[in-house]
Formats: sequence, C-alpha cells, structure tokens
Amino acid sequence: MRRYETTDTKCPKCGYVDEEGNWTTRTDGRRIVYHHVCPSCDADREHIFRLE
Ligand SMILES: [Zn+2]
Repeated sequence: MRRYETTDTKCPKCGYVDEEGNWTTRTDGRRIVYHHVCPSCDADREHIFRLE
C-alpha cells in the first residue's frame, strides 16, 4: 500500500511542501481514509483506500 504521508507532501493548491507530512489516518474497517490540511492555505486533501 502506498503511504501518502511520505509520498505526497506537496499541496496542489499553493505548492507548499509539508515536510512533516501531517497526514492523519482513520479506518472504518472497510476503508482507510488519509486526511491532510495544508498548513499554508488550509486546503483539505483526502485519499481513500478500500480494503479488499
Ligand atoms: Zn496549500
């Protein structure tokens, strides 16, 4: 599984690179949801993985 907290650190809106990679993860048992808020422009990003 790709780990977005280490591979996707650049904000697509403002270009800010979050070196800390402050992704949070949660799961409901069927999906894993990665969530990130840009510290520069507050843009929300989410990546959702389905668990097969
Ligand atoms: Zn941003």
